[in-house]
Order: sequence, then C-alpha cells, then structure tokens
Amino acid sequence: MRILLVEDEIKIAEFVSEGLKQSGLDVTHASDGLMAKQVIAAQKFDVMLLDVMLPHIDGFTLLKDLRQAKDKTPVIVLSAKSDLTDRLQGFELGADDYLPKPFFLEELVARIKAVTMRGGLEPSETEVMVDQLKLDLVNRQVSWYDVTAVLSQREFMLLKFLMRSPGTIFSRKQILQSVWNIGFDPQTNLVDACIQRIKRKLMRNNEDFESPIESVRGIGYRIRVA
Ligand code: CA
Repeated sequence: MRILLVEDEIKIAEFVSEGLKQSGLDVTHASDGLMAKQVIAAQKFDVMLLDVMLPHIDGFTLLKDLRQAKDKTPVIVLSAKSDLTDRLQGFELGADDYLPKPFFLEELVARIKAVTMRGGLEPSETEVMVDQLKLDLVNRQVSWYDVTAVLSQREFMLLKFLMRSPGTIFSRKQILQSVWNIGFDPQTNLVDACIQRIKRKLMRNNEDFESPIESVRGIGYRIRVA
C-alpha cells in the first residue's frame, strides 16, 4: 500500500515513516504543501496523511484542491489542532478521518486500514439495493425511480451505512460514530444536514413518492422497507 505523508515536522515525519515502513507500508514523504502538490500530480497513493499547518500551502487548502479535482484518495488529517471547528472543517472539505496529535502508531495503522477498507470493495460487491433504492459503490451514485445523483463522500458513506441494515433505526450518535468517526455529541446538525442533502438529491422529480429515508422523531433515521 502506498502512503503519502505530508508533514513539515521532521521528528514526526521520521517517526511515522519508520513506523509505517515497519508495518509493511510504502511511505513517500513531502515536507511542505507545494512539494505535496507536485508529488500528488505525479503519482497515485492509496492513502494520504495530511498535516494542517504546513509551509507554502496549508493542509486544508491542499485537501480542498484535491477534492475539487475529483481526487478521491482517502485522506486522514493529522493535526495538533484538535478542537472541533478544525475537525469539522476537515470533514466538510472531504477528509475521511481525523487523528489528533500526539497519537500512537498502532492507532494510525488501524485508521489507515479502516479508510482503505471503506474505499476498497469486496471483489463482487459493486452495489447495494433496497427496494427501488440502488447505491452504486464504484461511482458513488444513487438511483431511485427516475433519478440518478452523484453523492459526496460523506453522503455516500451515510447512505451506505443506513442501507446496510434496512429498516433499522440509527441514532444521530451512531451515525456520527460510524460515518464521521466522532464519538461524542458535537452539538451540530451535521447528520441532519447531510440527510437533507441526500433527500434533496433523491426527491428531485420524485415528489410524489415517500422519501426512502425515514426520520423517526426523537430517535434517528432509517431506510424504509416495503
Ligand atoms: Ca505542521
């Protein structure tokens, strides 16, 4: 597995590079944002580990540019800034995970495995279907009756999570944990806003149908089953 580590602090970079190499991972190191940009343009990586405070181009700008260029490489943000605003900003920009510094190498390896498994598919599995609702796991597309829409990474993960257990009600807390890897209540409407975006995409030209995502008042959300 090829990992790109973008980190300007030499000590951290050496610690992470050495540790990951010992875990059998192939690590390329970029020590600032500009260098990272050049490396990304030249080759593909399975996971990118991204520091936020970087010389020349900061991590969040890099991430934004990457996603705007439709690059879906899983990104784990590594940051000393552990406060919620930064964390949420990272997710909003399309980060797949967020690991505050300092961290244990074992945890980083576990997170790398988790994001690559999320993105990687079991060989035969290319879609999930619940009644009329069909989720294309390769192209991150959802179809429902006449509508086909492309989902953002987070919308995709949320819908996939719900569709894996149709009919089961999941609380906002469970969804936050599973989709955003946030294990506490951040006092935001992250989940509801994301559900609304998915619903809007599905309901376009389908106003006559009942939404396939049902909100269960006071509890959470579930996929409706016939
Ligand atoms: Ca830094």
